[in-house]
Amino acid sequence: MFISKELMKLCALEMGVELSDEAADKFDFYASYLCEYNEKVNLTAITDPDEIVIKHFADSLAVIKYGKIKENCKFADVGTGAGFPGVPLLIACPGLKLTLFDAVNKKLEFLRSLAGELGLKADIVHMRAEDAGKDNVYRETFDCVSARAVAQLRVLSEFCLPLVKPEGMFISMKGSISPEERENGYAAFSKLGGKLYDSVFYKIHNGDERNIILVKKVSHTSPKYPRNMSQISKKPL
Ligand code: SAM
Repeated sequence: MFISKELMKLCALEMGVELSDEAADKFDFYASYLCEYNEKVNLTAITDPDEIVIKHFADSLAVIKYGKIKENCKFADVGTGAGFPGVPLLIACPGLKLTLFDAVNKKLEFLRSLAGELGLKADIVHMRAEDAGKDNVYRETFDCVSARAVAQLRVLSEFCLPLVKPEGMFISMKGSISPEERENGYAAFSKLGGKLYDSVFYKIHNGDERNIILVKKVSHTSPKYPRNMSQISKKPL
């Protein structure tokens, strides 16, 4: 075993998830494959097995505890990188209809290979979020859209809310968040058809602090959003 199965199961339980032995084995393979692949493609700065369990896997599972997701919903993870939070969610909830978006194809090649090894079914899409949000194949089609550690909240809202269908949820996962970032983010939600639903502060197993901000899609997003990346970064909402 590469990771401690006991720690994995304990940390999952803290997030309200009872893991089977089979699922714990999948997390074990995921961690060792991540570290092996990380030698050739930069995927994560975290390579200690316990830290992978606590900071990547269990933190991803926080979406189940705090995000109010249904097990078989249509879920997109924007800027998934090495698969967080999307892949741990799929291991824990195999019925999830998961799409993983990232702008960097090298990271997605890792995920395609991992999914093949673990027999996981997900759409793995090399596309920027703001392009996906303009594409009718994806726009307003997801019950839930998550993003962890991708951008400032107001920028992230423009990436993610256009992808959420009305009545669906945008789930933003952050480490710390300043009052200014929070205020700007909250102001951006309404411009994009969103409304703050809840903001949850929690601690992961080692005591580190995290935030999840839940934004409900209450009306369609205006066709003028998302704008292109240069406009988003020059004039964030
Ligand atoms: N979510 C992962 C995690 O929590 O470990 C990765 C976080 S990493 C800091 C940010 C990721 O977002 C990178 O993989 C980057 O390529 C991706 N990204 C940034 N902007 C993006 C965009 N507009 N559309 C899609 N992916 C984007």
